[in-house]
Amino acid sequence: MSDAVLGLPAMVRWLELFQTKIAAAREWLTELDSAIGDADHGANMDRGMNAVVAKLSGGPAASFAELFKNVGMTLVSSVGGASGPLYGTFFMRFGMEAGAVAQVDAAGLGGALRAGLGGIVARGKAEVGDKTMVDAMTPALDAYDAALAVGQAPPGAVQAALAAAVAGRDATIPLVARKGRASYLGERSAGHMDPGSASTVLLFEALAEAVESDSTE
Ligand code: ADP
Ligand code: MG
Repeated sequence: MSDAVLGLPAMVRWLELFQTKIAAAREWLTELDSAIGDADHGANMDRGMNAVVAKLSGGPAASFAELFKNVGMTLVSSVGGASGPLYGTFFMRFGMEAGAVAQVDAAGLGGALRAGLGGIVARGKAEVGDKTMVDAMTPALDAYDAALAVGQAPPGAVQAALAAAVAGRDATIPLVARKGRASYLGERSAGHMDPGSASTVLLFEALAEAVESDSTE
């Protein structure tokens, strides 16, 4: 089992990378949401993550709990769509689970991610197969845990999570949505990728890069 640790600088890089990737994917996310929603997922996420990164420049946080409480509250207050409260809850629960610490180990990161997903599910009540961000995040965290169980360190485990998130995202395409705005379309929601599962892949892409660069320092 790896004893590698991830500190607050890696977490700040994760958030900055997520913002950059969301900004670059803004049009694509909006296009996905225009097919089965109201064409605002790119704008929602971009507004939210811009607000998060602006807050980060206010000074370094003392702990995971403090950093991610701030991130979560900023997302909830700056994003009107469903994704703001859902990602906001994810980050708040992530920080609460990690606690008043300045670093986590591989298992601690997995536990915090799992708590974050628990927050999304508690709030949105979606299950795997409902065609939401949960469809990308759930297999990602299962793959992360499985990788740790066979002795992988965070860079490899997060890569495994990313690959599973991509597969989960792509698996939303044929599904009929049962939660969120897309569910209003019924059968017509089939044949389109869920926008929130696409932004969740970016969350794991950002985490993979942040963890990778951290472990090579
Ligand atoms: P809105 O649907 O309010 O316009 P967004 O377009 O920003 O908000 O986000 C839509 C995404 O939010 C969906 O693609 C889906 O992944 C996610 N989502 C919506 N409702 C739920 C829910 N109840 N549980 C989990 N994720 C959800
Ligand atoms: Mg929308």
